[in-house]
Amino acid sequence: MLLDLSGKKALVTGIANNRSIAWGIAQQLHLAGAELGITYLPDEKGRFEAKVRELTAPLNPGLFLPMDVQNPDQMQAVFQRLESQWGQLDILVHCLAFANKADLVGDFSDTTAQGFRSALEISTYSFTSLCRLAKPLFSPEASVITLTYLGAERAVPNYNVMGLAKAALEASVRYLAAELGPQQVRVNAISAGPIRTLASSAVGGILDMIHHVEAKAPLRRTVTQQEVGNTAAFLASPLASGISGQVLYVDGGYCITGL
Ligand code: NDP
Repeated sequence: MLLDLSGKKALVTGIANNRSIAWGIAQQLHLAGAELGITYLPDEKGRFEAKVRELTAPLNPGLFLPMDVQNPDQMQAVFQRLESQWGQLDILVHCLAFANKADLVGDFSDTTAQGFRSALEISTYSFTSLCRLAKPLFSPEASVITLTYLGAERAVPNYNVMGLAKAALEASVRYLAAELGPQQVRVNAISAGPIRTLASSAVGGILDMIHHVEAKAPLRRTVTQQEVGNTAAFLASPLASGISGQVLYVDGGYCITGL
């Protein structure tokens, strides 16, 4: 069986620029034949919109909509539009996260209650909200994918509150896989190795993390957005029809290392 997503409708969240992991995923889904819907985080001056619109134009997205996951009305509007234009959803990609920069450096115990709440609301609860809104629209054999990191299960310097957000995200994957499985919807996470992006540059010492992985990972390198995109395309396809509730590591093998 070949990887073929033609005729599938895919909603991709979290494209900020050409370094975004979501951009790598969108490109690979498009190459495999999927029709894309893209959401972007709106700002007052419309700069993000213009940037993401220009970047994604070559992929001819059928939908291009604003969505701040802290704005429930905006989220609902995305799914109303999706229902009226597409009628169903085959692939849902949750590829966004946020934590205060101050909470991504130094001592974990310094995390403020506000920082804790916003990291978990934006990075974790948004995944549950998206699945709830998409539930009536999921086609049989739909696939849901989110992005996580090893800091969910290990204490990684500076990752701090985002580690808790990712741990809760991975638990959400299991609960949502159990809930949506009878509907034949699969829910999985990709645990990516460190990649330089806008979000990761907020994590203190990200370059050291990348250099460490380059020195220690079995493949002696970190991974690319395209490699994560390839795995997402696989997970979205019938080739992965038996896989649900899992965290798949795309990290050059780093997670297996001891000393
Ligand atoms: P990016 O900065 O490119 O993407 C993060 C996205 O989240 C941006 O598009 C950002 O929008 C969006 N976002 C932030 N807040 C909100 C909000 N309230 N509503 C809607 N969107 C929002 O970084 P990455 O590609 O690195 O991150 C994508 C995912 O991959 C994240 O879940 C991240 O944790 C995960 N990941 C990243 C790794 C890495 O090393 N880069 C490793 C493992 C996992 P904007 O920029 O416009 O604010």
